Amino acid sequence: MIDLHLHSRASDGTLSSTELVSLAATRGVSLMSLTDHDCLDGTAEAATACAAADIRFLPGVEVSVSWDHKTLHIVGVDIDPHHAGLKAGLARLQMVRDTRALEIGRRLEAKGIQGAHAGALTLAGEARLTRTHFARFLHQAGHVQDEARAYKKYLGRGKPGHVTVEWASLEECIGWIHAAGGQAILAHPLRYGFTRAWLVKVLTAFKQAGGDAMEVVSGRSNLDDVAVSAHLAKRFELAGSVGSDFHAPSPYLQPGVETPLPEGVVPVWERFRD
Ligand code: AMP
Ligand code: MN
Ligand code: MN
Ligand code: MN
Repeated sequence: MIDLHLHSRASDGTLSSTELVSLAATRGVSLMSLTDHDCLDGTAEAATACAAADIRFLPGVEVSVSWDHKTLHIVGVDIDPHHAGLKAGLARLQMVRDTRALEIGRRLEAKGIQGAHAGALTLAGEARLTRTHFARFLHQAGHVQDEARAYKKYLGRGKPGHVTVEWASLEECIGWIHAAGGQAILAHPLRYGFTRAWLVKVLTAFKQAGGDAMEVVSGRSNLDDVAVSAHLAKRFELAGSVGSDFHAPSPYLQPGVETPLPEGVVPVWERFRD
């Protein structure tokens, strides 16, 4: 089993890389990447744990990109985690995250919610700050019934705690990933809420900017989603990737993707360097 999209506690997952690798091993994963948001902090620990568990490990990252006033996620896999250009780019995105977090805190305060920034920081601990930490704070402090409602009411697009920021451009993100030796993969293409016409525009821009692959099996995607994605991958001559986008243990989603890549889609792992 393969999984090229996983999160750890270095960003908004709940497991340490070691715990994540143990869980992946019990699930029968034989090839995995760790793809935290704009961050490589969990890479070394994941590599060590994978070596011990006899899992082939590829360093990865999920990069936040702004494209036409929308946020896209580009997964880079088989990257050199020590590449200076990539590290500098991600450091810039972490500064954007820190500035954004302060502003999210201010906006929530204006809505009568005290201490959200400090609360999210405490929940994050050593981790890089994400909206997930704000969602956890809003839930735990009793402002919403569950984390999903935190996005619906406060943190999602168009809601009072939503802050628009300028992430990396598509071109620079793909440039960093390629410079670091990796494959640039458009993450969860059907989960942005784009119309089919918009998705075609995004894929056109992604391909033109040098994008290599797209996730064809993503998270809990059903077989219709997989068929649609496979069709788009072939149409745009993109390789296919599979990734759970696992963040936390749940009855619904586990590390390791069971659905195979459909016939006729080139597996992105055939393009990995070794
Ligand atoms: P950020 O990159 O800090 O803006 O946070 C984005 C992360 O928030 C995503 O990777 C998800 O883990 C989480 N997220 C965003 N929207 C939702 C949602 N509607 N429900 C649950 N989690 C979400
Ligand atoms: Mn996330
Ligand atoms: Mn994502
Ligand atoms: Mn993800």
